[in-house]
Amino acid sequence: MIETDVLILGSGSAGLFFALEVAARTKLRITIVTKKERYESNTNYAQGGIASVLNATDSLDSHIQDTIVAGAGLCNLGAVETLVNEGPDRIRDLMKLGAKFTREKSGKLHLGKEGGHSANRIIHSHDLTGKEVERALLHAISKHKNIKILEDHFAIELLTDHQRLDHKKKVHHKPRCYGAYVLNERSEKVEIISANVAVMLATGGCGQVYLHTTNPMIATGDGIAMAYRAGAKIANMEFIQFHPTALYGEVAKSFLISEAVRGAGGILKNLDGDRFMKRYDRERLELAPRDIVARAIDAELKKHGHPYVLLDISHLRPSKVKKEFPNIYSHCKELGIDITKEAIPVVPAAHYSCGGVVTDLNGKTNIDSLYACGEVAMTGVHGANRLASNSLLESLVFSKRAAEDLATSSKATSKHRQIRLQEWDESGTENAEEWVVIEHDWREIQHLMWDYVGIVRSTYRLKRAKLRLDLIVKEIESYYRKTRVTMPLLELRNMAMTAQLVVRSALLRKESRGLHYTTDYPKTNPKLATKNTIIHKND
Ligand SMILES: Cc1cc2nc3c(=O)[nH]c(=O)nc-3n(C[C@H](O)[C@H](O)[C@H](O)COP(=O)(O)OP(=O)(O)OC[C@H]3O[C@@H](n4cnc5c(N)ncnc54)[C@H](O)[C@@H]3O)c2cc1C
Repeated sequence: MIETDVLILGSGSAGLFFALEVAARTKLRITIVTKKERYESNTNYAQGGIASVLNATDSLDSHIQDTIVAGAGLCNLGAVETLVNEGPDRIRDLMKLGAKFTREKSGKLHLGKEGGHSANRIIHSHDLTGKEVERALLHAISKHKNIKILEDHFAIELLTDHQRLDHKKKVHHKPRCYGAYVLNERSEKVEIISANVAVMLATGGCGQVYLHTTNPMIATGDGIAMAYRAGAKIANMEFIQFHPTALYGEVAKSFLISEAVRGAGGILKNLDGDRFMKRYDRERLELAPRDIVARAIDAELKKHGHPYVLLDISHLRPSKVKKEFPNIYSHCKELGIDITKEAIPVVPAAHYSCGGVVTDLNGKTNIDSLYACGEVAMTGVHGANRLASNSLLESLVFSKRAAEDLATSSKATSKHRQIRLQEWDESGTENAEEWVVIEHDWREIQHLMWDYVGIVRSTYRLKRAKLRLDLIVKEIESYYRKTRVTMPLLELRNMAMTAQLVVRSALLRKESRGLHYTTDYPKTNPKLATKNTIIHKND
């Protein structure tokens, strides 16, 4: 058993910033566990930037308004105001930590524009913003003696009152989190990491449940599944954002072609050369919010039977293209596409989960001592659709608030008294022999979600998906109980459960709103305007 004061699951922007903010306020011992290398996260792949009001000609009200418009009536106003009002200070915090953002010749920050924003307010580091944020945060962490990072450690399950040996003597009415069971992938042993003060869930999103996704392999919905099993409230999982423009092709692996490319003047055309966005959003064209552009592309692909559409920036100056999008330029060039001369073949791909573990504005969940921040959390900021570049900002704003909350409450309350927790029990399990089962189920879930629970949905297809997922979840649970755990098996188990939550939420929403579009209820129902689809195991 490893003992720490604060246990953080995940080393993306939310987990790392939280660690730094706790370390700045307390002397607590902090342990970050992360399932692969420390930098491997969605954060590391973020390209476009971070939205924040840092220009006198822009206004906080305008950023709030844009966020609410994108959120299609479901945003929590208090959460949006907090995000936008505290955003500029969090950007300054990042710069103080050493993050370098792109500047104009005059030395002023270069502010980009993205779909749905009514002003230039995207702070970025060329088209590798996430990498720079991750680098700066990891560098700052390396200087802290109180923060330890355990790579190749996979969090399996949150430890709550259920795993207490003195279960009957428990005094809390509210369930409480005491740490996690963690698979050390190097020793292949499952360890208990107990947290005396609190656990932060910062495990990111779940893009891997879909066949096409911009997310790296780590995004298997582990935190959402773990939290749900532990009794946390999960909400709005039907709102999966599909990025309209991922590079098309077998080798391309849904590499993201950032929103900023459209912001810089990129034009979308179908293979017949028609600039089709004029038929879907006459005013905003390519700069309409992501859901509108993604649905437009989906409709064009279905209508013409084409495998992709084209995104063209070859009319811009080549030097500008290379300077603003060095990463996209070189990645496409390696695949034989010169974006300064020819259009880029693109398709939509699963990109971001607006739903997740329900938290208040301090990152607190309904389980005592369990915080959640970043993409795994549902703060109410995004509502039914996330405005571009609001997610990195959300991870910073709310993890700082969680750190402040933890620092105040850890001073006020004593640490958890010594409690005894059940050891991980692997008796009766055997090594996995049928690897094909895991691989097959993984592929089946991704295809099923893409075909039945994608950009355009119907009750018939959702019900088909539910039937199959219910069976897959049952089969995986029974396989899991008799098999020694490995990372692929654990990820598959979490993916199946997360996919099930997406489908259950989608079936509950009997209207089309934001990212959730169903042909059976094509209109928005004003009576559902403030209704989040909350799913709770104990209900
Ligand atoms: C290609 C791409 C481009 C994007 N561009 C932008 C952008 O321009 N602007 C913007 O605001 N947002 C962007 N986003 C979204 C944004 O990057 C993410 O929402 C944000 O980085 C999430 O941060 P996070 O810390 O919550 O999660 P992540 O950065 O994903 O970190 C999650 C961490 O948890 C770890 N983890 C997961 N499960 C476990 C487990 N079981 N045990 C241990 N560790 C675990 C992972 O290994 C990882 O370290 C983009 C996303 C992608 C994929």
